[in-house]
Amino acid sequence: VLINKMAQMLTGCSEEQACGQKFADTINLTQGQENENITDLISRVVETGESLYLPKDVILLDMQNKEYYIAGSVSPIIGENDAITGIVFSFYDVTETREKQRRIEYLSHHDQLTGLYNRNFVEEILGTEMARADRYHQVLSMIILDLDHFKKVNDTYGHPIGDKVLKETAAITASNVRKADIPARIGGEEFIVIMPQTSAGNAMTVAEKIRVMLEQHEHPLVGKVCASFGVAERLSGESFEDWYKRADAALYQAKQGGRN
Ligand code: GH3
Ligand code: MG
Ligand code: MG
Repeated sequence: VLINKMAQMLTGCSEEQACGQKFADTINLTQGQENENITDLISRVVETGESLYLPKDVILLDMQNKEYYIAGSVSPIIGENDAITGIVFSFYDVTETREKQRRIEYLSHHDQLTGLYNRNFVEEILGTEMARADRYHQVLSMIILDLDHFKKVNDTYGHPIGDKVLKETAAITASNVRKADIPARIGGEEFIVIMPQTSAGNAMTVAEKIRVMLEQHEHPLVGKVCASFGVAERLSGESFEDWYKRADAALYQAKQGGRN
């Protein structure tokens, strides 16, 4: 019936194109990743007579197939005898805010240098992973990895080259674990891999694979940089701190035993 100037701009749909058409033919809305059609919102408002806010992550696809994140609401127009005589759909562009939010979420869970998960993410996810392991009596293992004589790399070649070595180490680690595993950088040159449904034996196999890949990798300039590992399978009900301590003790042993 009516489409205002701002809505015309955002949808790319002129008054002539919109008026007299079905809502769903002019306003193309999808939600998040599921891409399900959300126009039944309108039917719900008609049925209940109550206003609804758009759910999070609604995407408006304009006539040029450009996507906007929008926020807004659907409200009934109540006429005589409380009859619903129409619907007002009002919305606004929140693309910029949404993208900023995404970026903040990403940064809060990832390490900027390597792109791996960070310590904060590991701490957040562990509650769930440990509860799941306890509930379903599943094994859960961790690998920790610390580069060998890394101070020497920094001292000899400088911090920026050291950073490059860290990036490559992260990439090698990430490419040798499964999708369900959680590889993270938890300190300067210390990495962790949380491995759901994985026994110590299987985690050892993965650690050994990473060890060999690192040993075989030649960094331009620096050459070989090896790492030492600690592996521990979580005991039922064990706290993260105790579990980590056992992996760290194993790592210490590896360092004492000659590294790599
Ligand atoms: P070890 O074999 O016993 O592990 O010897 P190491 O020299 O690697 O000793 P340690 O693990 O204590 O070394 C930590 C060093 O890592 C100290 C610091 O120079 C370096 N480092 C920590 N964070 C960063 C970082 O973000 N970038 C770079 N380039 N170096 C870092
Ligand atoms: Mg260290
Ligand atoms: Mg080290």
